[in-house]
Order: sequence, then C-alpha cells, then structure tokens
Amino acid sequence: MGARHANEQVRRRLTSQGGSGSGDVRGALGGRGAYAQASSCELRSPAMAPAPPPAASFSPAEVQRRLAAGACWVRCGARLYDLTGFVRHHPGGEQLLRARAGQDVSADLDGPPHRHSDNARRWLEQYYVGDLQGDPQDLVDWRKPLLWQVGHLGEKYDEWVHQPVTRPIRLFHSDLIEALSKTVWYSVPIIWVPLMLYLSWSYYRTLAQGNVRLFMSFTTEYSVAMPESMFPGLFMLGLLLWSLVEYLIHRFLFHMKPPNDSYYLIMLHFVMHGQHHKAPFDESRLVFPPVPASLVIAFFYVFLRLILPEAVGGTVFAGGLLGYVIYDMIHYYLHFGSPHKGSYLYHLKAHHVKHHFAHQQSGFGISTKFWDHFFHTLIPEEPHPKIQ
Ligand SMILES: [Zn+2]
Ligand SMILES: [Zn+2]
Ligand SMILES: [Zn+2]
Repeated sequence: MGARHANEQVRRRLTSQGGSGSGDVRGALGGRGAYAQASSCELRSPAMAPAPPPAASFSPAEVQRRLAAGACWVRCGARLYDLTGFVRHHPGGEQLLRARAGQDVSADLDGPPHRHSDNARRWLEQYYVGDLQGDPQDLVDWRKPLLWQVGHLGEKYDEWVHQPVTRPIRLFHSDLIEALSKTVWYSVPIIWVPLMLYLSWSYYRTLAQGNVRLFMSFTTEYSVAMPESMFPGLFMLGLLLWSLVEYLIHRFLFHMKPPNDSYYLIMLHFVMHGQHHKAPFDESRLVFPPVPASLVIAFFYVFLRLILPEAVGGTVFAGGLLGYVIYDMIHYYLHFGSPHKGSYLYHLKAHHVKHHFAHQQSGFGISTKFWDHFFHTLIPEEPHPKIQ
C-alpha cells in the first residue's frame, strides 16, 4: 500500500480532535471518555516503565506534517506514538494499523477485532514520542454559527482558517438560510449541462449558416470566416480559458488575505473559500451554489459576447461552462473519491491535499496542474521515507 494513499485516508480523520470544541482532545472520543483511555493506554507498572523522558509536545499541524511525509503516527488520547517503523510488523496486519494513522486508537486497542494484551500495550509505549498540544480550534464557539464569529478572529484568522477540522460548519442562525446556503454536488451538472448543450447546439447552427465572421467591426476586407468547422476549436479554447480562470480565481480571489481589522472582509473570505479550508470534508459547501455561480457565469457570458461576434463568443462560453462543471466535479471527487494509484486524478488529489494541508500558497490548479507549472506555483515533491 502506497504511503500516499494511506496519507489521504489519514488526513480525513486526522483532525477529529477538533470535534470536541472544549479544547480537550480526549473529549473527541465520544462515548469513550478519558477514563476508558486511562485504562487503555496508561498501563505502565513502575517496574516496566523507566521514568519517561521529558515529554515533547506537538501541535496538530506538526503531526499533520509528519503524516503528510508518510509517517504513521497514532495517539491514545493526547499521547502520540510513531509507529512508522512498526507497521510492517503489526501482528494484526499493516493495513489495519495504517488505516488508523492520525487517529486515536484507544478504543481499537480494546477491540474488536482484537483485545490487545498488556504486553502489546507496553510494546506500544516504546514508540511514544510526546503529547499532542491542546486543540487550537476553540477560538470559535462551534455550537454557534461561525459566520458572525470569524470576523473577530482578526490576526488569528489566517492561521485558524488553515487548520482543517473534519466537522461540518454551521454558518447561519436561521435553519432556512443555512439549508439554502448548502449545495449538493449533482446540482451543478443538472443545472449547467443542459444550458451548455443548448448553447452549443444553437451556436453551432448559427456558425453553420456561414455568415459569421471575425474582426468584422474593424475591417470588412480582412475579416475571417467562421464556419461550423471552427466549432470544436472554439469550444476547446473555452475549456482552456476556463482552466486559467479557475486558477486565477483560486489564487487571487479565494486566497486573498483579508485585512486583520476588517470584520466583513474576513467574513467574505470565509464564505468564499475559508470555510472550505476549515472544513475540507464538509461536502455541503464544496461546489458553487447556483445563485452566486449564475452571477459569475452571466458576467463571463456578457463579456465574451461583447468582445466577440455572437456565435463565436457563445461557443467559447459554452466550452468554458463545460470546463466549470468538470472543475467542480473534479474538485468534489478529489475530496471524496479514491482515484487509482498512478492515475491522472490520483496525482491531482495528492496535489490538492497538499494545497489544503501544507502549502496553501501554492498548488492552485484543481482540474489541471498546467497553470501551476506556467506560473511557478507548483507544490514541490517532498521526498518522504520509503515505507513498504
Ligand atoms: Zn493492533
Ligand atoms: Zn484553496
Ligand atoms: Zn478543496
């Protein structure tokens, strides 16, 4: 099993300690509280355990960085264990253990499937590396809507918003507005694909009539005929232009750092993209909602229709619209799908996961890394320890 694939699973679960909201990492365990863990993990009779070295402490971000580099760390409550060297020898199988990297394994130690012996628990203690620092997520009150709180974070907002949690986000007080602010992924193709097909068909027919010419407004003599054979090229141009727009919006709009003292710009940033970085596995606000999307889409439609003859601009627009749908679907898939190792989407996923967890100021391309190459914002490949 590749280290990377495991990492991606890891990251999904990694920040579950953010779930407590109380600042107590143990609280995140749900039914099994601190008591259960004390019995699971702190089984060290005086004879067995030499005085532990002064405990190192690791922030969730530091733990994430190690997991991203391929290490297999687990925790028991706040105690962290580096099992990277041990996974291959785990009697219960490497897969089982690797699938729990980044997680609290206190409950798993008790089984099922297997109740680990006292010796197994002592064995685990050999891999103790330190403690997880208190959870920084309680800068906000997760029981209340976040939208009205983020603006108060000021200079702490940027760091906070880039520390992902696995819990979903509540933005608004009102249940109705909260529900309206969410979008299911398939609404994107359902709404935009029919429009894209309709526009493609009607502009193709217009081009086929044979009287569309480019540069007509400047000169009638050198204008260029635009027969229907130009349709695929114009459509592809639209797809390509979308991938550039996708990159530029993500880099310069979504990742614009709001001023620390601006309550409303922080709020705006949070709604546009911050919430996705805070809760990358909240699927309810991953794709663009249709209403704001239609404003942006209408803007591009008017713009292209103004600078190009109707059917030419319209065809480029239709290609761009398909590009947008593909982008939103790929983005969703990168978060929730498991592409095959070595495939195109697999590499995109690795790239995007790094954008979320470690390199928020690079790796802006979602459906292609082309523009990251072009603008030199590609995330460097980190060499990670080879794990079999
Ligand atoms: Zn085990
Ligand atoms: Zn981003
Ligand atoms: Zn994302």
